[in-house]
Amino acid sequence: MAVDLGWMDAEREGWEASGTARRLRPRLPSATPWVQIGGRRLVSFASNDYLGLAADPRVCEAACEAVRRYGWGAGAAPLVTGWTEEHEALASALADFEGVEAVTVFPSGFATNLGAVAALASRGDVVLLDRLAHGSLVAGARMSGARVRVFPHNDPERLDAILARESGLARRMLVVTESVFSMDGDVAPLAEIAQVAERNGAMLLVDEAHATGVIGEGGRGLAHEFGLGNRVTLRTGTLSKALGSIGGFVAGERRVVERAWHVAGSFRYSTSLPPAAAAAARAALGVLRAEPERLDRLRAGCRQLADGLRGMGLAPRSPSDGAIVPIVVGGAEAALSLHDELRERGFLVPAIRPPTVPRGTSRLRVSLTAAHDDRQISGLLEALSECGREILGSLGDGLG
Ligand SMILES: *Cc1c(COP(=O)(O)O)cnc(C)c1O
Repeated sequence: MAVDLGWMDAEREGWEASGTARRLRPRLPSATPWVQIGGRRLVSFASNDYLGLAADPRVCEAACEAVRRYGWGAGAAPLVTGWTEEHEALASALADFEGVEAVTVFPSGFATNLGAVAALASRGDVVLLDRLAHGSLVAGARMSGARVRVFPHNDPERLDAILARESGLARRMLVVTESVFSMDGDVAPLAEIAQVAERNGAMLLVDEAHATGVIGEGGRGLAHEFGLGNRVTLRTGTLSKALGSIGGFVAGERRVVERAWHVAGSFRYSTSLPPAAAAAARAALGVLRAEPERLDRLRAGCRQLADGLRGMGLAPRSPSDGAIVPIVVGGAEAALSLHDELRERGFLVPAIRPPTVPRGTSRLRVSLTAAHDDRQISGLLEALSECGREILGSLGDGLG
């Protein structure tokens, strides 16, 4: 007889009861900022396609051309025969874009972070993680075999104190943070964190997933914006957000990047991303460089949304932050009901609930893109003020 899996049903019922059960909703073809889902066409504030490049004809054509030349699958891990000239060209273009010596490419951003931590820390070391670090960084830290410690979110002073205490105890220390945090949308005080890491002799890993193509001059990210260069030991980024493709990359000094080839399991033991995905990401990088107005448009939209929310008594922290704007409502049910009401009015804004965010901080997460126009943003603001009055009214300083 098969083993009893009834415990799974019990747990599932708990998720249903607490409003945290998940469903997959297939969408139909549509380009950012639209989404066609559940029989409706909605304005989506639920995509990481920040520059509207995922369905750009030039990006798609680059992918098609690569498919015609290489076929679809890469066929092997990169160190075997999976690394094509498309991967090589993408790595060079990214190194140039990031202003670093070397880049290597992974099958996803998640796999990138697993590999990046493995390249820098192992048994005998300590990894210091920002409390709100992405799940892939947490997984990477755990898998690395190093001891893991958490420091308070965006708090260089506390980090300094923890590093000072740890410095005698571990062989080497690694500080891990993000540049734009994925659930709160706030930006790390990266210059201070780099300084603290340096002072304590710790390496620094920064995940630029939501910053690449969004933050800083030309969308080159936060480390580049602060001119941190090699003071960030390794940067990671994704090809799957602003660059509209799939995959991830590490960027830094050659000796650091090439170390990943040797020690990162998620690089060595996983098939290369399809050559077409690499070609698409490189084409997206080209569009980003040729059309800086996309970034201007994204930033104008962020300002419009921030001003509108401020007008409603919801003060966002800083208009210079990235394209993610959280509206914290508290309970999972409240977040879901606001989500449903906005949907009725034609807007899709995801409700983010535990365990993705801490209990009591369930939220709507608005993601802006360069493809949203003024009317769509003012429409969202209007819908929020109509249907969110009871919920938002009780929030006071609802953001953050
Ligand atoms: C999305 C994300 C990743 C993972 O990237 P994928 O390419 O989607 O696997 C890693 N880190 C952060 C902070 C992210 O938001």
